[in-house]
Amino acid sequence: MFRFTSLSSGSQGNALVVQTLDATFMVDCGLGLRDVEERLSRRQLAPCDLDFILVTHEHGDHVGGVAKLARAADCPVLASHGTLAAMGADHWKNVTTHALCPHRPLGLQGLQLNPIVVPHDAREPIALEVAFKGRRFAMVTDLGCATSYLRERLKGLDALVLEFNHDRDMLMNGTYPSSLKARVGGSSGHLSNKEAADILSQAASDSLQVVVAAHLSQQNNSPDLVEPLLTRHLPASTQRFIANQDEGFDWVAIQ
Ligand SMILES: [Zn+2]
Ligand SMILES: [Zn+2]
Repeated sequence: MFRFTSLSSGSQGNALVVQTLDATFMVDCGLGLRDVEERLSRRQLAPCDLDFILVTHEHGDHVGGVAKLARAADCPVLASHGTLAAMGADHWKNVTTHALCPHRPLGLQGLQLNPIVVPHDAREPIALEVAFKGRRFAMVTDLGCATSYLRERLKGLDALVLEFNHDRDMLMNGTYPSSLKARVGGSSGHLSNKEAADILSQAASDSLQVVVAAHLSQQNNSPDLVEPLLTRHLPASTQRFIANQDEGFDWVAIQ
């Protein structure tokens, strides 16, 4: 078994659960504890089932609920040194933390966790590739642009969760203040649909079983804009889903 599900995806909160026969862990948690418990229970899980929580960076929609959940689950938190430091030592009181090196793979419970350095306006942000029994799954959200290093790392994947944050025109013509438009649309902000589609076209291959478009902006994007891009850039054999803020997405199995 190698599968994943999202409890929520977007700027109001992110939480992804990855499960194998030997391990269950969460990547990010931007939700309150009661909300997480409820969403986990809908997937027949409870906080105590989590072996660890990995945090990609210190923005509230990714870290907001992590410390409380870690205390409730009595499990350790893994993040880069910069992410841990950005939150301050007090934040992690009564939580066991382990600093990840963003350039070094980490073997844990039969899994290999391979951080991927991404350009995003946080202290030491990472995306994550998870390898298990010859299958590779990557979760890539919160980045302002694709680096050649990232494109290389996404070749030959079996599953990919990729940010499709905004439609450039909707962002630029929308109601955000100009400073926020510049931040979101900048090279350390978030991926536009066009940038994400470009990454996807290079990552697409016959081995790519499933793609989930994630972290869609509720103000500046629409699944109707993303859907045709997935169709255009993926082989017909690749399953495709679009994550949303309220529901995330259901379990997706990697064969
Ligand atoms: Zn985010
Ligand atoms: Zn972020």
